[in-house]
Amino acid sequence: LNRRLDGLGTTIFAEMSALAVATGAINLGQGFPDTDGPEQVREAAVRALRDGRGNQYPPGPGVPELRRAVSEHQQRFYGMAFDPDTEVLVTAGATEAIAAAMLALLEPGDEVIAFEPFYDSYAACIAMAGAVRVPLTLPAPGFRPDLDALRDAVTPRTRLLLLNSPHNPTGMVLTRDELTAIAELAVEQDLLVVTDEVYEHLTFDGVPHIPPASLPGMRERTVSISSAGKTFSFTGWKVGWVTGSAELVAAVRTAKQFLTYVASGPFQYAVAEALALPDAYYTSVRDDLQDKRDLLASGLTAAGFEVYRPQGTYFITTDIAAFGEKDALAFCRALPERCGVVAVPSSVFYDHPTAGRTQVRFAFCKRHDVLADAAARLRKAFN
Ligand code: PMP
Ligand code: GLN
Repeated sequence: LNRRLDGLGTTIFAEMSALAVATGAINLGQGFPDTDGPEQVREAAVRALRDGRGNQYPPGPGVPELRRAVSEHQQRFYGMAFDPDTEVLVTAGATEAIAAAMLALLEPGDEVIAFEPFYDSYAACIAMAGAVRVPLTLPAPGFRPDLDALRDAVTPRTRLLLLNSPHNPTGMVLTRDELTAIAELAVEQDLLVVTDEVYEHLTFDGVPHIPPASLPGMRERTVSISSAGKTFSFTGWKVGWVTGSAELVAAVRTAKQFLTYVASGPFQYAVAEALALPDAYYTSVRDDLQDKRDLLASGLTAAGFEVYRPQGTYFITTDIAAFGEKDALAFCRALPERCGVVAVPSSVFYDHPTAGRTQVRFAFCKRHDVLADAAARLRKAFN
């Protein structure tokens, strides 16, 4: 392994999902739903397969139907116009979009500012691009960004801000005021912004998702990333997309061509249909997840965890210090034996040597009975 990938080893998601399989524990670790997405979208994929749409290499930028659907989605939900031919790119999930954006936009030695804890592929992709990550810790309990610290973190080497809202793993959702301050800084310092919005439709209690690209001065400097995995519950299909200016999208496409070239042919057609589902679909996904959040949050609270209630995503971050625990990774490795539940240590998402050591993340994108069972097991073990 080269030095750029030093310390990246096996992702925590692979480790914890393997542990769930080996122990038969309830998997509230890796974020994937235990119910597949809409029947009509699965049927659309089957139809595409049968009709021979996408069984051979789709066009490099993605099938036109999906690029149009992404463009219409951005218009419908955010009032933003993107040309499907030059300003939309289909990728192999958001993961490839993040990788391609980092590889396309960064020079070795460039600094990338990102709020930690961060999704693990950020550290890996910044490293693979030879760039340097500059982490800014989001402090519990609210995980709000420190905007003065952000301003102070900018140096002449800063090239890019990597944003993620709704934020994995904390569930924090950036407000319009926070985004305004971030946008002003980006414009003033002439920074690029890459924004990971895979949880864009999963916000609760009426908290809105505001795309960073929709703020003044941001459209021309922002690469926005999303995917079908979370919104439509098809994490295995790996259909993602990028929107941005023609110039930025072309840059990302150049890198993307040599990562996968293309992916997920027939599924691209199905996701085009999914994106066009009526507003009621999007509302029902969010309402259902809000109920599940409440169910798991009460269960974890009753078991004695300190619970940080998320405004979005399908994760709850907790703190285990009250149990006398000091190390979230050791805690999560032992949890399946202790009570038959798998969670993910958020500590691995920090660069900071002491931040988040006792934070543990639980996923609630599971059936009600599964969540109730997990909550009962945790209550029995800890209370
Ligand atoms: N970004 C974040 C913040 C995520 O949590 C995930 C994981 N699901 C991804 C990107 C990757 O998305 P995809 O499965 O579409 O590659
Ligand atoms: N995004 C998912 C999570 O945060 C997992 C994705 C993965 O396994 N790479 O749990």
